[in-house]
Amino acid sequence: MSQSQELYDKAVKLMPAGVNSPVRAFRSVGGTPIFMDRGKGAYITDVDGNSYLDFCGSWGPLILGHCHPAVTAAITEVVSRGWTFGTPVREEVELAGLIIEKLKAVEMVRFVNSGTEAVMSAIRLARGFTGRDRVLKFRGCYHGHVDYLLVDAGSGLATFGTASSDGVPEDFVKLTATMDLDDLQGLETLFKEMGHELACVAIESVPANNGLLIQSREYVQKLRSLCDEYGVLLVFDEVLAGFRMPEVMGYEHYGVIPDLVTLGKVIGGGMPVGAYGGRKEIMSKISPLGGVYQAGTLSGNPVAMAAGYATLKTYFQEDVPGQIEKLGAHLDAGVASVLKDLTNIGFLRLGSLFWFYFNAPEPPRRADAISSQGGAVYKELHRFMLDRGMYMAPSSYEVGFLNTAMTQNDLDRFLDVLDQAKKEKIIS
Ligand code: PMP
Repeated sequence: MSQSQELYDKAVKLMPAGVNSPVRAFRSVGGTPIFMDRGKGAYITDVDGNSYLDFCGSWGPLILGHCHPAVTAAITEVVSRGWTFGTPVREEVELAGLIIEKLKAVEMVRFVNSGTEAVMSAIRLARGFTGRDRVLKFRGCYHGHVDYLLVDAGSGLATFGTASSDGVPEDFVKLTATMDLDDLQGLETLFKEMGHELACVAIESVPANNGLLIQSREYVQKLRSLCDEYGVLLVFDEVLAGFRMPEVMGYEHYGVIPDLVTLGKVIGGGMPVGAYGGRKEIMSKISPLGGVYQAGTLSGNPVAMAAGYATLKTYFQEDVPGQIEKLGAHLDAGVASVLKDLTNIGFLRLGSLFWFYFNAPEPPRRADAISSQGGAVYKELHRFMLDRGMYMAPSSYEVGFLNTAMTQNDLDRFLDVLDQAKKEKIIS
């Protein structure tokens, strides 16, 4: 029996499904999760010594790959001086300064420990700032596991409060309106009906947790102008797409400036970090300056701040978006050539995010345009890839992540395996 299997057998007795985050459990692709031991650059190695080209990258944070020397050095240096004080530290000022220098939408920032916390806190702030209670979110956008954001829209233009998790009281989601993405007219109607009651609209800047649902500039710009007209704060959740776009941020991709931005993943370089930021006028409402309470024992801890600072400094100094575009163009051309005569599979890439979609004539822009039959094809493709050393996310709804440790040769290996999958009729 493999060591991975042995660990899994132990893990399932100790932790629900043996994991600490559901998608890791491989439920939708079958088989058992693989336990990793090491990572270096673009590759990860499991506890049995098998290596994989890593397209998961810890679900987004590792844009420089594993164990990047600058990040390793920063973490090691900071740990040698002590790793938590519960007081302000220099590293917070450095990371905050860099984020504010580079992000037009952020004049002040507050650090937290996860993306979930970032969104939860930004929405509390939006409610505190506007004095309104209702929020609007979009079907297919994930904002973490906050009670009132675990809401499914159902069908129809906008529905209120059907919780998509047990344990979330219906009363908690009554103030959350949900609607489909990419519905310009619906948006106008909804604002007419309840625009004056909305504290904020939360949207994943580039929705990438339920397929890659890239929105049109026209749609997002309309959303911005409706928010202005009705005094609603626009909250761009950049936890996943932030620092993964050719233009750095998702909001820059569409040419709008949101009122609040939530950050995570890349800004912590792989350590647990989230952040929210925006205009000074709004951020000044946070305790102890203002009346919106939000706190954290380990928030802004020096290890996470140093890892994030080293990651972002390298990101800007070495033009990571430019490097990714070169790699991405190589991948696009290679995938297009493999898939050219296939009709049931499509490929979409934006910045360092990519996604295979199935049985759709063009890239879906809303959750209900994603074919439910894609999962069965992806299940086979995923296994085929895994057995040949390609670690892709264990769900057809998750995107793949490129990083700068990858080379064109690495991507050529991936393309070879994709081509084999075509020859064996796994994709068609
Ligand atoms: N928002 C977005 C857009 C995300 O992608 C995620 C995580 N996938 C979250 C929020 C929640 O972040 P975390 O898992 O760090 O709580």
